[in-house]
Amino acid sequence: MPQTTFDVFRYQPDTSDEAYRQKYELEHGEDMTLLDAILRLQNEQDGTLAVRYSCRSAICGSCACKADGKTVLACMTQVEDLKAQNGDQAVRVDPIGNFKPIKDLVVDMEPFWTKFKSVKPYLIPDSDPPEKERIVSKEAMQKIYNESKCILCAACYSECNSLAADAEFVGPAAFAWGFRFAADERDGQRSQRAKLYSGEHGIWDCTRCMYCNERCPKGVDPRDAIEKLGGIAFQEGLGMRDAGGRHAKAFLVSLRTGGKLNETLLVPLTQPLKAPFDLPFALKMIQKGKAPSPLPHKIRRLDEVKKLMKSVKETI
Ligand code: SF4
Ligand code: SF4
Repeated sequence: MPQTTFDVFRYQPDTSDEAYRQKYELEHGEDMTLLDAILRLQNEQDGTLAVRYSCRSAICGSCACKADGKTVLACMTQVEDLKAQNGDQAVRVDPIGNFKPIKDLVVDMEPFWTKFKSVKPYLIPDSDPPEKERIVSKEAMQKIYNESKCILCAACYSECNSLAADAEFVGPAAFAWGFRFAADERDGQRSQRAKLYSGEHGIWDCTRCMYCNERCPKGVDPRDAIEKLGGIAFQEGLGMRDAGGRHAKAFLVSLRTGGKLNETLLVPLTQPLKAPFDLPFALKMIQKGKAPSPLPHKIRRLDEVKKLMKSVKETI
């Protein structure tokens, strides 16, 4: 039978303000999930070990935690897989990141729910409902299918770099829900939602690190939802109000005109008021051969890039 050492984050505010780590040994079957292992530790060795869980079936999202530094759902993670990945007989277990621990692996989810509510995660139709149900085509639902799979486990928040730098950043899951309703043809608030989501701490503050896509256990791809919300902001005429939106536009203009990034366009298009002050610095860089050529450049197969851009546009 496999034997595993579990190196667990402990925080027991009733007895001490200091967090500490505790190691437990457990002999278990080959196919034990991390959640079952934690529950066995709690039942057999240490009744004070706190963990949050409910369905045990990757549906409720309660048991998200970090295993060897990566956020997972404990109920859908095999202990033996973790050991095979880290090449060790030990597994390190921590609460999810970007949240305040309340006790051991249990964190305070309040900021997550506040942000979730702030995006108005429900339909707001602009007319009275029909007498009978409103039928939505399969194609229309397909556009929001991915985002509808979110189980609010907060694994994406746990890994989010923007949240680590700015606790007010609205965050990947809330934006996935935001897109789910902004792109729903029954909703009447597309323009208002675009405004709500592209303000301070909004979609343009995402660093595009992609960790939310990588760690989401349900394949929601929240970063893609944020990108699509950026598209909606432009469609609603709001894209150029934020430096982040203008930065994205500079990439778009570069690709349309030359097929690749023209760095020289980035500063003047993103920060037009600041650009003149950066001119002496830019000239110095050109002098030292550290700046890209300011002359427009074009790749050979620009048509291919334009075709790609067209197909991306059509998916929004
Ligand atoms: S987007 Fe994915 S990781 Fe984020 S809360 Fe929803 S299911 Fe969890
Ligand atoms: S891509 Fe954006 S939202 Fe997703 S984890 Fe990175 S910073 Fe956060």
